[in-house]
Amino acid sequence: MLPKPDTIVAIATAPGRGGIGVIRISGYKLEPLASAIFGALPPARTIHFTSFKDSLGRIIDQGIALYFKAPHSYTAEDVLELQGHGGSAVLQMLLQRCLESGARLAMPGEFTQRAYLNDKIDLAQAESVADLIDATTTQAARSAMRSLNGDFSRVIHHLVSELINLRMLVEAMLDFPEEELDVPDLSSRDTKLSAIKLEIDQTLSLAQQGSLLREGAHVVLIGQPNVGKSSLLNCLSGEDVALVSEIPGTTRDVIRQSIQLNGVPLHIIDTAGLRDTADQIEQMGIARTRTTIEKSDVILLLLDATHGIGEQDRVILDALPRETPRLYVFNKIDLSNEDARVERQGDAEYIYLSAKTGQGIHILQQKLLERIGWHHESGVFMARARHIRSLQSAREHLGKASAEIFRAELFAEELRLAQDSLNEITGEFSSDDLLGEIFCRFCIGK
Ligand code: GDP
Repeated sequence: MLPKPDTIVAIATAPGRGGIGVIRISGYKLEPLASAIFGALPPARTIHFTSFKDSLGRIIDQGIALYFKAPHSYTAEDVLELQGHGGSAVLQMLLQRCLESGARLAMPGEFTQRAYLNDKIDLAQAESVADLIDATTTQAARSAMRSLNGDFSRVIHHLVSELINLRMLVEAMLDFPEEELDVPDLSSRDTKLSAIKLEIDQTLSLAQQGSLLREGAHVVLIGQPNVGKSSLLNCLSGEDVALVSEIPGTTRDVIRQSIQLNGVPLHIIDTAGLRDTADQIEQMGIARTRTTIEKSDVILLLLDATHGIGEQDRVILDALPRETPRLYVFNKIDLSNEDARVERQGDAEYIYLSAKTGQGIHILQQKLLERIGWHHESGVFMARARHIRSLQSAREHLGKASAEIFRAELFAEELRLAQDSLNEITGEFSSDDLLGEIFCRFCIGK
């Protein structure tokens, strides 16, 4: 049996002034600490109003002590919560008192890590605790809550159990070839596999939406100097973040601004205009532009509606990476006296708008969401890049399994690899490195 872990303590509430401040303690030997600070451990799950005292018996604060007995607590260990006043000095004194009384300062995310290690929650749920705390939009908070509630994990568990069923049938046939087993024939093997593949595809789609809510997308704003890039950025963000001027080349550096469209964070990067220039500082800006473009999810090429596409625009167009989705936007329709609209020519879509008057901005917002792949699906799970990678890897193995449907051993092996990939999501197989990476990003006290 593993030794019982030590007692950890942290301030659980956010730093700064507040009506109430909470100190959380988790471990297995809480009686001495409780008697040192306020007398004795109260009965579990009862509200106990008391005075918290220092080593000389002076009252530090008055508040509530709440005791949750293992395993019925957040960490599945004995947990004590001391709720006092939310001032930084008073909470620091109370924290210090807990440290003197045998607890040690918790590391970031250590309470949640203990909940995971004690099987209270799985890894995907533990991650969603951090995502819920970090959520900045209602949609992001809702989908994090869905994952915390176990909806995402349940889908993964269901997929795993379907895979196990199929593996069992095929492996039984391999292990006992001469037995009269109820082995699925090739066509029912294929039907079962197709059903699992479809379910993974649907889960992947929901997870990708969740990942968009969490990570957002990178949009590069590009175009000739003076075409209105900074004005468009201001218009989209509703704030004066970029410098707008009539001297070409004002926007020398890369400016980032995050906005939210339907709850999806869009990181918009306003770049230095791409043009031939002798100005060294501007050249540096242009070099940075090229690096940024290569990493973006969507390129928004801004053109001037009063000129149409000119020679310089073609130079920019030729320099753009072909794989990245693009949106062509004609700005300044207030000067060219045109209506806001979208025109389609082949695969390309041209949006006509005015960054100055705001006409057509809503069309651009809608097209941006479309291009980054936001479908407004309901039931989105908050997912991380590692979840998507695992789902994609499981999907690839199932694709290989289809190709090996006539060779039962290879078929079964691909199913096993797909199962391992899915298990990584919920943490059935996880390395210490991965756990360290996940929990170090939490705040202290959670
Ligand atoms: P940038 O160099 O591409 O960032 O261009 P700016 O945003 O600095 O704009 C250059 C000039 O064009 C400024 O005087 C803007 O006020 C003007 N401008 C930008 N968009 C529009 C528009 O839609 N209509 C009109 N009339 N002027 C615009």
